[in-house]
Amino acid sequence: MNKLAALGGTPAVPRAERQVPWPVITEQDQKALLSVLDTGRLVSNAQGEAAVPELERRWAEQAGVRHCVGVSNGTAALQLALAALGVGPGDEVIVPALSFIASGLAPVHQMAVPVFADIDPVTFNIDPEQVRALITPRTAAIMPVHLHGLPAAMDPITALARRHGLAVIEDAAQAHGAAYRGRPVGGIGDAGAFSLQMTKNLPTCGEGGLLTTNSAEVAEHARMARQFGEVIDDTRERDYVSQVLGWNAKLIPAQAAFAGSQLDRFEEYEQARQRNVPAFLRRLAGLPGLLAPSATPDATHAWHILRFRFSPAEMGLDGVAPGAARAALHRLLRAEGVPVSRYQLMPLPEQRVFRDRSGFGRGYPWAAAGPGPASGPAGSWPVTSAVIEDSLTLQKRHLHPGSGPLLQRYADGFEKVWANLDVLPRMARAAA
Ligand SMILES: *Cc1c(COP(=O)(O)O)cnc(C)c1O
Repeated sequence: MNKLAALGGTPAVPRAERQVPWPVITEQDQKALLSVLDTGRLVSNAQGEAAVPELERRWAEQAGVRHCVGVSNGTAALQLALAALGVGPGDEVIVPALSFIASGLAPVHQMAVPVFADIDPVTFNIDPEQVRALITPRTAAIMPVHLHGLPAAMDPITALARRHGLAVIEDAAQAHGAAYRGRPVGGIGDAGAFSLQMTKNLPTCGEGGLLTTNSAEVAEHARMARQFGEVIDDTRERDYVSQVLGWNAKLIPAQAAFAGSQLDRFEEYEQARQRNVPAFLRRLAGLPGLLAPSATPDATHAWHILRFRFSPAEMGLDGVAPGAARAALHRLLRAEGVPVSRYQLMPLPEQRVFRDRSGFGRGYPWAAAGPGPASGPAGSWPVTSAVIEDSLTLQKRHLHPGSGPLLQRYADGFEKVWANLDVLPRMARAAA
C-alpha cells in the first residue's frame, strides 16, 4: 500500500475518483443559455436586451461597487480600464513579475510600458516596497494582481498611488469573492477587472469579463469603448456615431445569462471551497519543507489556484537543487494521481514580447517612453524566479463544491510521497 505509484505501487488517488469537472453545468445553466436564443436579442446593443445589464447589476452588488460593465473577456476589462483612466503612450504601468501574460499585455495595448515588480515570497503578490522603488515621473498606474485568489496588499499600494497621483487597476481575474480587510476586491482601486473565462471561479460557457469601478466616468468610458466608441441608449435608435477610440469588446447575452445562472450558486460554491480547501491544507501542515498556501490574517483567499513551494533543505535533502526536487515531486505526485502542474514557466518580463521588446514592432510602445530603465535584465526578479523554480500548483478540480473527498485523497498522496522522500535524491541525480 505504501509503495510509491511511480515505482509500481497503487496510486493514492483511485482513477475512478479523479474526474471532477469544472465548470459545473446544470440544467438551470442550460435553460438560461437557451432562453437567450428565444429572445432573439443576441448582442448587448440589441434594443431591449436584458441579460448583460442584469449580470452587471448583480455583480456590482456582489463586488460592492457602483458600476459594472460587461466585456468580452478579462484582458479587455484590463485594457478598457487603463483606457478609461487615461493611461496611454509613454506611460509606465507597474505590474507584478508573476502573473498571467494578460497583466503585462494590457498596458502594451495602450502603448504604455509595463514595468515589472518582484513579488512577496509567501503571498506571491506584488511587493509594495518594490513598487515604491520603481515609481518614476512617467509612472501612471499600478496594477496589483490578486494572484491565485489572494488579495494583494492594497492599503500600502493605494497609499503609494495617492501620494504619487497614480491610478490603481486591480487584476481580479482570479479572485472573485476575495476580500481585503473586509472590502471585496475589484472596488478598492480605481477600477477592477474580472474574467469569466470557463476556468475561473465565476465561469461562463467560454469567454467573458466584468469591469468594476466606483467612478461614473470610468464606467461611461468603458461602455463606449466596448461598443466602437458609441453611446447606446435603449430609448432611441442606434446612431453609429463614435465618441472615443473604441473596440468591439462586448459581452454577449448568452454568456451573461450563463454566468448569471452560475452566479445563483456562487455563494454556495464559495462556501464549499472555504471548507474543502482549508481542510485539505491542514493535513499538509506537518510535512517538512512543504510551504502550502494560506490566507493572510486580513484577507479572504478565493483559492483559485493552490501553489506549493518546496524546500529541499527542510525536507532533509541537502544538496538537491530546488528545480530538481520540484521536477521529481512533479513525477511522484502525478503518479499518485495528484495532478500538480506548473503555472508560469518564467517571470512575465522574460516572456519574449517584453524581453525582446517586440511589442507592436519598431520599438513601440517602449520607444514612446523614451530611454529609461523600463525593465531590468533577466534575474532582476529573484523572488519570482525562485518561486517558479521551487513550486507546483493545483488548478480547477478543487473549485468544484464536491471536491472535498478528492482533496483528502490528494492529501494521502502528499503524505505518501513525503513518507518516501529518500527516493528523491537518486531521482534528482538521474535526471541531472
Ligand atoms: C485569466 C486572467 C486574465 C485574463 O482573463 P481572460 O478572460 O482570459 O482574458 C488576466 N489576468 C489574470 C491574472 C488571469 O488569470
